[in-house]
Parts: sequence; C-alpha cells; structure tokens
Amino acid sequence: MGEFDLIGRIRARAGTRGDIVLGIGDDAALLAPPPGRHLVVTADTLNDGVHFPHGTSPADIGWKALAVNLSDLASMGADPAWCTLSLSLPQSDAVWIDGFLDGFLSLAERHGLALVGGDTTRGPLSLSVTAMGFVAAGDALRRDGARVGDDVWVTGTLGDAAGALALLERDPTHVLRARLDRPTPRVSAGLALVGLANACVDVSDGLLADLGHVCARSGVGARVEMQALPASDDLRGSFDNIERAALQAGGGDDYELCFTAEVSSRDAIARLASSLDLRITRIGRITGGDGVIAVDAAGAPWRPPRTGYDHFG
Ligand code: ADP
Ligand code: MG
Repeated sequence: MGEFDLIGRIRARAGTRGDIVLGIGDDAALLAPPPGRHLVVTADTLNDGVHFPHGTSPADIGWKALAVNLSDLASMGADPAWCTLSLSLPQSDAVWIDGFLDGFLSLAERHGLALVGGDTTRGPLSLSVTAMGFVAAGDALRRDGARVGDDVWVTGTLGDAAGALALLERDPTHVLRARLDRPTPRVSAGLALVGLANACVDVSDGLLADLGHVCARSGVGARVEMQALPASDDLRGSFDNIERAALQAGGGDDYELCFTAEVSSRDAIARLASSLDLRITRIGRITGGDGVIAVDAAGAPWRPPRTGYDHFG
C-alpha cells in the first residue's frame, strides 16, 4: 500500500465537524475558530520503546497518542476540537493503520474531536499529534495562578502506569497495564474546573515534578501529604507501601489533573467529583516557600527510596 492509499484510509475515517471548512486532502486544513474564544494548541510525540513499550498494540498506541494531547488540553480547561497526526512508520501496513485508527478515533469521537490533517513518512515508529481546542478568553487554567493558602488536589489515582512499567518484565499483562496503555484524559474535569481552579497541570512526569512546575510558575511552594495520595486497589495489591509511595509521587504517565483551589471551593469540588463520578483528592497546600515538600504521616520530610525502579533513574 502506498502513502496515498494510507492517507485515503485515514481520510475515510477522520470524522467531521461544522467548523471545518476544508479537512484532509488539500495542502492544509481550513478551520473556523469560534469568535471570542482562545485557540489552545498542544503537541506531543510518542516514540516506540520510549513512550510506549515496544510491542504495544496499534490500537493502544493510537489511543495513547491522542490521550496525552487531550490531557494537555484538559489541563488548560479547553474544549477539544481538532487534531493533526504526523506518522512515521517503518512500513506501509494497512492492518497496523486500521488498528491504530481504532484506538485513536474511538477516543477522538468521545470528545467530539476531528482529525483535520497530518503527514505520513517512512521511518522508525513515531507518532506526533497536535491537538487544538477552545477556551473562553481569560478562562484558561494556567500553571501560574496558584496562591498561598490554596488547597492542592489531584484527580483519579496516581502511580498505576508507573507500577505497570515497573512490572513490565515480570508480568507484561498485569491489570495495571491498562492504565499505562490507555490513560484517561480528564477532559470533563478540566472544563468543569474553569472558574474553580486557580492553577492546573496534568501529571505526566510525576506528581512532585509537575506540581513543582506550578510552584515555579506561580512563585509559591507546596506541601504534599504523602499519606493523602490516592492509590488504586490494584496498585496497593501489587507493591509495598514504600514502593507504592515512590510510584505515586515520582512515577509518570498518570495523565491526571493536579490543581489548586481556594479553601472556600472544597464543597464545590466535592460536588464536582460526585457529578463526574471521579475521585478528586485533596493532597496538600500551597505555601509561601518555594519548591515542593512532601511529608509523611508524622510530618517528617519524605525522601524517595534510593533503590527504586529503572525509570526513576
Ligand atoms: P503535502 O505533500 O502537500 O504535504 P501530503 O500528501 O503530505 O500533502 O498530504 C495530503 C493530505 O493528507 C493533506 O491534507 C494532509 O494533511 C493529509 N495527511 C497526510 N498524512 C496524514 C495523516 N497521517 N493523518 C491525517 N492526515 C494526513
Ligand atoms: Mg505532507
């Protein structure tokens, strides 16, 4: 199958929206952003063996390539609209591309996102997605809005994907693997946090690192209660407490939202959690210092264990 057959296959399934003047098939797409809203644009690349384990199914790769980008839109409080896809493939493979599109487009459809263009080349397996969405002017959730006294919150559970990665050699089909391969971008939560959260980031590099970005951008510090970090039953069942804490605080690939909000917003956030049927956990406070301090149940500074898993290296 040639490049154009491959593109034809993609085009036939790309989805559509009323705000697409011209989609796949010309030299560029023509898009009509809604007046008065800001365009939110993000891009992320996944490389074989780096951002997903070699041998991951095409459908899971497709899902994840879009999910990591939707997570960035979610953390800005944006409503997803369009995306482009740059594919580098070792060979032109119809079965692979169909499987990839199954995963990619099932997630796109859930969020009303249409694929409007891209690029297809031969080379080592690599997927680069640009996702675009909208937010009302002035409403975006940014990293620089945290204020001293804010609560720090996180959606979902932490450490599951890192746990799956730690178990990959021993148990490649462990139940946690679904959280590594098919992260759930918290798009509805991001949209609902507009007006509630003062600052927001998605957790892709590990909670403490990503919260550190919020602190640096906001000129504040944060104190995180390690015993408050939410863990799934699957993670609890698979690691001892020390290993688990390290995975939750430092592991990556969670794609949860970490945000700060005023203390007076606690009830509203609890209502939001129940309306979204999503766990949202208060894990600490924004302080006047700088940097993130993690403390154990006794209030003593928590230090990551020295002998951890490879991916902490
Ligand atoms: P050009 O050489 O002018 O860049 P291409 O032949 O690369 O054009 O692409 C033709 C059309 O197909 C364009 O509209 C482009 O956006 C689209 N396209 C190419 N590859 C992909 C892809 N992987 N996913 C979505 N659209 C693609
Ligand atoms: Mg091109």
